Order: sequence, then structure tokens, then C-alpha cells
Amino acid sequence: MLVQKFGGSSVADAERIRNVADYVARAHRRGDQPVVVVSAMGHETDDLIDVAAKVSRTLPGREMDMLITAGERKAMALLCMALHDLGVPADSFTGSQAGIVTNGEHTKAKIVEMRPDRLRAALQAGRVPVVGGAQGVSVDHEITFLGRGGSDTTAVALAKALDADACELYTDVPGVFSADPRVVPRARRLSKVSYEEMLEMNAAGCPKPAMRSVEFARTHGVRLHVRSSFTWEPGTWIEQEGNAMEQAIISAVVSDQSEAKLTVAGVPDRPGIAARLFRALADHLVNVDMIEQNVSVQGTTDISFTVPHDDLGIAREVVANLQDEIGARGVHADPDIATVSIVGAGMRTHPGVSATMFEVLAAEGINIEMISTSAIRLTCVVRADMADRSVVALHKAFGLEGEGNL
Ligand code: ASP
Ligand code: MG
Repeated sequence: MLVQKFGGSSVADAERIRNVADYVARAHRRGDQPVVVVSAMGHETDDLIDVAAKVSRTLPGREMDMLITAGERKAMALLCMALHDLGVPADSFTGSQAGIVTNGEHTKAKIVEMRPDRLRAALQAGRVPVVGGAQGVSVDHEITFLGRGGSDTTAVALAKALDADACELYTDVPGVFSADPRVVPRARRLSKVSYEEMLEMNAAGCPKPAMRSVEFARTHGVRLHVRSSFTWEPGTWIEQEGNAMEQAIISAVVSDQSEAKLTVAGVPDRPGIAARLFRALADHLVNVDMIEQNVSVQGTTDISFTVPHDDLGIAREVVANLQDEIGARGVHADPDIATVSIVGAGMRTHPGVSATMFEVLAAEGINIEMISTSAIRLTCVVRADMADRSVVALHKAFGLEGEGNL
């Protein structure tokens, strides 16, 4: 049994839907038991959100969820019709009908229970269930949306609940790459990454597959296979870490320009200052990522941190309002930064990885403004316009270039 999830680009128009139907039909004829999950067609989710914003300023959550989930509902019905034409018995199911029970947090509901009885019955009867992604029903019987990218979560949750052999995430690229192929033309498709590596890549700025679904997959041991619905070739497996001996030192280089930097200069070096600052930011729901504090010189330190661009305005205001109270000398906002990260499980056991990273950036004349690390990730903040150059140089230096893998 396989869960096969098709993203928006995979079902973007009638022809693509017929292609997907053809593929699912072949799996069915082979004797596989596919359970299909679909996203909304193409950019339909964005379009629905846009039109909602034109009729409403308040965007009530219950109605937003009713609206957005219609996108997946349309796609699942169309796919089933195409399957019927190929002689494959298939039934569409809303999230509610599929037994996906969530909490009541509209627009970003969380799954609390899976009761896929109707899907099991359909499978038993030799039928192909096609489930609308990213949706469920709340414990109060309201229709809920699981949030952007939620179809991946639906697929992983179903794979777990139905004890499927794997969860395939079909998209418009052939897998997860060693770097963004638009920046590094010789980036390689990775045949395998561990859950931990993928999560670090997500945190470092790689948007897909959705981080939440990778976390869910790791927690429940669901093997993910990210692959293309355009070429149908094998893609990238995301699964348990393999033997350390075969682990590449570095698997991928990722950059992210979605963050900005704030520096609070000349902060008195005494207990409670950082606590006061970051509590205030948290109270205003500012999402802080990297934090760096200098060793104090003559009783004061500088604290720098990064936040999403969207939070920069509010973060700057919060800090400015606190400036006098905490006795800081100044506050500087810097929107023109990028983070560049290298990720790899092998760095745990190999010394010198950070030295190499810094040398590579130095050789390019690129200044490092902040550094942060995890067990399997190294991140540097650089000028935004140096991001691509950093990625290209690091990708090459760590021997990640491939040939003909695209
Ligand atoms: N269609 C929704 C979105 O674009 C859900 C999904 O595709 O995962 O976010
Ligand atoms: Mg989508």
C-alpha cells in the first residue's frame, strides 16, 4: 500500500489530471493499493485567498476554511472522474469523510485523531480512495483547513494511520537537491536524506516538503519519497539516518533571504536584560531565529538577532520602546542580509567542516556577520547580494557537484 500525494502543479489542468489518473491506474492494475491525496489545482489556493481579500477585511476563519478546502474538493472529484474513464473504481473523500479529525483552530488546524474507516472499506472493496488534502473536520463538526502545505501532512498522517509502505509526494521537481538548481546549475538530486537533515534544510530555508509533514514522518517512522509527476523517475527518499560510515559529510547548501537582522548596541552586561528583551518580542509574537551576543567590553555588550522580514517593523518598535529602560546605546535594523547554511549528518564526526566553510567564504572575499550551529548544520549571515556567490562556492568546495543527474 502506497499513499500518493499530488501537489498543485501535478493536477494544474485537465491534461495533467488525466496524466495522474493514468499513472494511478497503472499502479492499481499492477496490484498496488494506492491511496491518493490531492492538492488544489495549480495556484487555486492563492486565487481563493486573493478573492476573499477582495470581499472581506475580516476574513472569518470558519468561512476561509470552507472556501479554501473547496479547491481540493474540486481536484479530487475531477481526478476520480478521470479514473472512472480508465475503468478504475475510485471514490473521492473530503477530509471529514476520510476521518481526519482536527482541533478547531481555523486556517491552521492540527490533526488530533485519524479514523480512516471509510478509506479502509474502499480499499477492501478494491477501490481507489482519493482524499482532498489539507482538510479535516473539527471535534465540533466544522470544516477545517490544515494550513498552507497541509496536503503533505494529510498524506503522511494517512500513511501512518493506514500503515502504508511509503508516502510518495509528487511535485514538479525530481526530488530534493544539493542546492537550488536555479542558483547552482550542477546541483545534484539527492537519492536519500535523513529526517534530521531534511528538517535542518527546512529550517535553513528549503520550503518543500513542508517541515511539519517531515516532523510528523520522523515521529511516526513514515518513509517519504519526493518525486516528479512530470518525469515519474525515482526521486529523493527521506528516511531514518543510515550507517554513519556511508554518510556524506555535507549533503546540501541552502540559503534564505527571508530574514533581517536587528542589533541592540551597548547593552549593560547584567542579569535580566536578554530576558526582558526577548520576552517583549515573544509577547508581540515576533519569531526570533539566530541570536548572538558579544563578550562584554567595559560592561556593555551588543546583542544581534534575526527575524522574518515581515516581523522587522514590529520588532524594531518593540526594541526601540525598551531602549531607555534597558539602557541600550542604539538599535540598528538591517534588512539586507541572507543566511547561508551547509547541512550534513557527517559533520558530526568530521572535524574541520566549519574551518573549511569560513575559508571558502574568505577566499571569495565574503564577510561573515553572524554564525550559528547545530549538530548537523552551520549557518553564516552574509550580505544579501553575496548569497548566491556563497552557495555556488560552498557547493563546489564540498564536492557536491554532480553530472547529468538532472
Ligand atoms: N493547496 C494548499 C496550499 O497550496 C494545501 C497544499 O497544497 O498542501 O497550501
Ligand atoms: Mg499547494
